[in-house]
Amino acid sequence: MGAMPTRRVTVERNRLRFAASHMATFGGTCEPLHGHNYDVFVEVEGDLTKDGWVWDFGDLKRTTLGIIEQLDHRFLLQRRSTLLAIEERPTNWAIRFGEKGYVFPKEDVVALPVENTTSEQIAEWISGELAAALRAKGALSMRKLTVGIEEMPGQAGWYTVDL
Ligand SMILES: [Zn+2]
Repeated sequence: MGAMPTRRVTVERNRLRFAASHMATFGGTCEPLHGHNYDVFVEVEGDLTKDGWVWDFGDLKRTTLGIIEQLDHRFLLQRRSTLLAIEERPTNWAIRFGEKGYVFPKEDVVALPVENTTSEQIAEWISGELAAALRAKGALSMRKLTVGIEEMPGQAGWYTVDL
C-alpha cells in the first residue's frame, strides 16, 4: 500500500518578519528585556483545489502579514505567565518579577494568551490566528498548518497543528 501523497506550500522571511521585545522566563528566572527581528515561516499542507493548488501564495503572505503586523514594534507580554506578577491598569501594564518592575503603556504591548513568550508559543499563537483566518476564507482542504518563528539566524521555534 502506497502512502498518501502530500502537497504543501510554504511562504517565509522577506516581508514576513516583525521586530518585537520580550522577556521570557525559564527555570524560575526571567531574561532581561530585549528584542529580536523575528523571521516567520508558514507551511500549509492540504489537498489540491480544482485549480491545482493548495493555497494561493499571495493570499497566504497577506493573511500572515495581517497577523504578524499586530506584533511589530511591540512588547510581547505572556498574559498567562505563572512567574510574572502582571497587573492590568487602565492605561498600562505593570509587570513585576522579584525586585524588578516594569510599566509599559498599553499601546506598546500585545498581551498574548500564552504562558511564556518563547518562539514555540508565539508560533502557536500565530498558528491559531492564521488557521481561523484561512478557514474564514474557505480553506477547507487544508490538513496541516506549521508556523516557525526564527528569533535569530539558526534558532527557531515551531508549531504544527492538524486541522
Ligand atoms: Zn528573546
